[in-house]
Amino acid sequence: MGHLIDGKEIARQIKEELKEEVQGLKEKGMQVCLAVIQVGDDPASTVYVRNKKKACEYIGIGSKSFDLPGTASEEELVSLVESLNQDPEVNGILVQLPLPKHIDEDRIIRTISPDKDVDGFHPISVGRLWIGEKGFLSCTPAGIIQLLKRSGIQMEGRHCVIVGRSNIVGKPMAALLLRENATVTVTHSRTRNLPKVTRTADILIVAMGKERFITSEYVKDGAVVIDVGMHRDAENRLCGDVDFADVEPKVSAITPVPGGVGPMTIAMLMNNCVETVRC
Ligand code: NAP
Repeated sequence: MGHLIDGKEIARQIKEELKEEVQGLKEKGMQVCLAVIQVGDDPASTVYVRNKKKACEYIGIGSKSFDLPGTASEEELVSLVESLNQDPEVNGILVQLPLPKHIDEDRIIRTISPDKDVDGFHPISVGRLWIGEKGFLSCTPAGIIQLLKRSGIQMEGRHCVIVGRSNIVGKPMAALLLRENATVTVTHSRTRNLPKVTRTADILIVAMGKERFITSEYVKDGAVVIDVGMHRDAENRLCGDVDFADVEPKVSAITPVPGGVGPMTIAMLMNNCVETVRC
């Protein structure tokens, strides 16, 4: 049976550490404030935004909310972001994605000042990540590194296979694992014989957006499996990209869904907010 990597508990520990750090910063007269922008009223986005604001409140990070109607124009959003870039009271800017179809997401991401880019999606943040410079790290992959480190799972010299090459998970995950001196393979929908490749993984990270796709035939005995996927199945239960019941008996450690990678994403967003004022 695989050891269960408890993302909820690890995220709780990180939030406690941040809370203490923010308290210390306040004593030195330093405040942290996150601006959260939501456009429209997509129910999933509303839940994510609410959870992010709750986490800010718990840690002692100030938050300013900007709710624009779904009909807001791209220009309105650009000028709001530009004004927040100039606002000395705002340290971090988060634009909840996805945006309505008529707004160019890439343009909005590029409008956020790289100094306030707490999601780590700006091309400058991405470039810094790849060349190993200090900068904001993409929250989900950074959370996975913390899950592995804090579970005592060695990355150096081990073969990590990532399923998925998205800009928000797969690609930054590869960069972060390289920083940890892992040997990294990135797979995607055109990869030939995926099970043959994934069975070579000491650590298998799955971010493909396909419900319970990864079964035991994709996994080597004793591997570590990290499941980034997030779905509601036909019975309305939350599940991941990994068929947990089938894979878990074969592995040395695995993240559950829910309670694995998910809680880490917000914890690392909070860490990026604090990073804006760290020396
Ligand atoms: P995405 O942008 O849709 O990318 C999916 C990736 O998987 C693509 O690179 C795609 O390959 C690859 N893929 C799809 N089918 C495949 C197949 N049959 N074989 C091999 N590769 C395949 O997804 P994402 O944004 O990275 O998200 C992935 C999952 O993680 C989703 O379920 C999402 O909800 C979840 N997620 C969770 C969190 C969290 O905090 N827990 C955060 C972000 C995402 P191509 O590039 O060739 O199309």
